[in-house]
Amino acid sequence: MKINENYKNLNESYLFSTISSKVMEFLANNPDRELIRLGIGDVTRPLTKSTVEALASASCAMGTQEDFHGYGPEQGYSFLREKIKEYYLKNGANLRIDEIFVSDGAKSDLGNILDIFSTDNLVLIPNPVYPVYVDTNIMAGRRIMFLDANQQNNFLPLPDENLKADIVYLCSPNNPTGAAYSRDDLEKWVNWAIKNEAVILFDAAYECFISDKNLPKSIFEIEGAKKCAIEFCSLSKMAGFTGTRLGYTVVPTALSFDNMSLNKMWLRRQTTKFNGVPYIIQKGAEAVFTPQGQREILENINYYKINAKVIADTMADNNIWHTGGIHSPYIWFKCPNGMQSWEFFDYMLNSIAVVGTPGIGFGSNGEGFFRLTAFGTYEKTVEAMKRFNGMLRNM
Ligand code: PLP
Repeated sequence: MKINENYKNLNESYLFSTISSKVMEFLANNPDRELIRLGIGDVTRPLTKSTVEALASASCAMGTQEDFHGYGPEQGYSFLREKIKEYYLKNGANLRIDEIFVSDGAKSDLGNILDIFSTDNLVLIPNPVYPVYVDTNIMAGRRIMFLDANQQNNFLPLPDENLKADIVYLCSPNNPTGAAYSRDDLEKWVNWAIKNEAVILFDAAYECFISDKNLPKSIFEIEGAKKCAIEFCSLSKMAGFTGTRLGYTVVPTALSFDNMSLNKMWLRRQTTKFNGVPYIIQKGAEAVFTPQGQREILENINYYKINAKVIADTMADNNIWHTGGIHSPYIWFKCPNGMQSWEFFDYMLNSIAVVGTPGIGFGSNGEGFFRLTAFGTYEKTVEAMKRFNGMLRNM
């Protein structure tokens, strides 16, 4: 028996365990200080009324002879895929139902999609980045090349004509930087991918935070994208489904390489290895896409966006270089006084008892940067920024 040796190449992920042990030590030494956590990457607002009612009514239906549901279609029930299709159409992206695959979340699909690609591909991954892209490719033994995202390119790297790769990951609005690509920028990526016969894996997990009509929410708003892109999306951040679990992946039927349709390959992969998302959860998701459901989730998204603005405004008022916070729940900023990421983490924790995430945890280009999130309460976010201003005055 031989193990997958590639697992030996994975870096131990110390980021969140180190944060948690530093926080525990701080609390043990400072039992009277009130800690504010702005490192949270998970939603905190509860599910909306429409969703909860739909989940409850679907649960009851499962206990009746007429409405019991066993195995469902692996790609998702058509009642939900129809709703997702309508949602895309509102943004000008016209999808076919058979291009939409419902799953238990974007993370699973981002990892699983690699099943349909040869391990002999050069993968291009921005740095800093959501760590899942890197680790899933290391597990499969693929060659990875990093693409510099930095202050000079506003953490939105673009391709140049010398750039060569087979698979590229783009995440917009981005985790961790909160930066969002413009339509022009995505057009550059789509043109590059078509010219280089490459595939773009587009992570749109935070699309719901975009309110500017000029910014694309989906890569399929860009002409030609159906020939070169797969999109991953999720109800996690949009509707508070991080614990409920539901996402969807769009694999266009026009996407084909070596005379093989990637849509058919993904369908084959899913019908072989996946048995679908529970009926109850899909009914909850259907409610998210009704007009009432959309109004309700918007209230929660706007709540987070107000928090994001409080943080971004604080950075702007203090002339701290930052991205994000407008079309994203994340604010990414340069650590004051040229501090390194961990140095600033310790400084902020000890001086004002506020916790964030050191940028270095997302890749080497994150060194000297820091991520705060808008997923806390409004009151705590305001209080944290009051303390932040005080900290800067004393620095
Ligand atoms: N993609 C990005 C960029 C994320 O930040 C996250 C979660 O934080 C995910 C995907 C995972 O989403 P899901 O909860 O649908 O698995």
